[in-house]
Amino acid sequence: MKAFLNGAIVEKADKMIPLEDRGLTFGDGLFEVLRVKDGHIFFFEDHLSRMRNSAEFFGIPFPYSRDEIKDRARELIALNGINDGELYIELTRGVDQNREHKYPPKDTPPTFFMLAIPLRDIDPMNWKSGAIVFSFPDLRHGLCEHKTINLLPNVLAKNYAYQHGGYEALMYREDLKGKYVTEGGSSNYFFVSGNIVITPEIDNLLPGITRSKVIERLKKNGVQVIERRIYHEELKKVDEVFLVSTVSMVMPVRMIDGKNFKAPGQVTKKAMLLYQKLMEEDKGQH
Ligand code: PMP
Repeated sequence: MKAFLNGAIVEKADKMIPLEDRGLTFGDGLFEVLRVKDGHIFFFEDHLSRMRNSAEFFGIPFPYSRDEIKDRARELIALNGINDGELYIELTRGVDQNREHKYPPKDTPPTFFMLAIPLRDIDPMNWKSGAIVFSFPDLRHGLCEHKTINLLPNVLAKNYAYQHGGYEALMYREDLKGKYVTEGGSSNYFFVSGNIVITPEIDNLLPGITRSKVIERLKKNGVQVIERRIYHEELKKVDEVFLVSTVSMVMPVRMIDGKNFKAPGQVTKKAMLLYQKLMEEDKGQH
């Protein structure tokens, strides 16, 4: 299997990242996961924009143009023979021999690499009859609107769910009114009450590409979508739940902490169909 690293296609098994890379020593970097099918990279512009904006926010130089990245990604996908898979992109602040928190000199080249790998193994029953979810405290820092590689709290949350037989975690924080839900370890959540869809507002959580596509499509199709803080207490009164991400797409949720939901319910089915249609449209465009 090949990878793309700092301008060249390389052998993935080779040891290539110096030990003092700031991604390794400080988690000083960003990542993206894109869905790939039949040579097509879905929602490429959206993912690249998110990464570029965050790179600008953190002052990490962005080394290539969109077109260069797209061309090299396509080359890598073809070389690795990936039909149904994932494109992983990582950008770090580069190698810093000093291992000091202080930013390295301005001319330090960032580390940029891409992996093209087969789609992870997901039991299709999750889409048919719904995923099982467990809630877990959101222990993250205050920079969750960026897709940083500081994923230890997400790893903790997701593994809590796995150890209890679940598919994903639902993270929560607390304010004076009680626990409110934020997002999954690697997905965003939607809750359906009657015909109204509610999703946590972007308030220190990742603005998922899938989340924004689903909101837009639901609204376009006459479904009311409200973005606001949602308290864990409210889950008792919710009819349907679904989670969304690049890899999970739109996935019904049938249970949270032992409480059952209809999965997939009518609105969830609609969201699944609309997103499927949107993916087909995106595929047709390039
Ligand atoms: N939240 C978090 C914390 C994530 O890591 C992801 C996966 N990238 C998402 C939400 C979903 O984002 P997207 O739809 O862009 O894949």
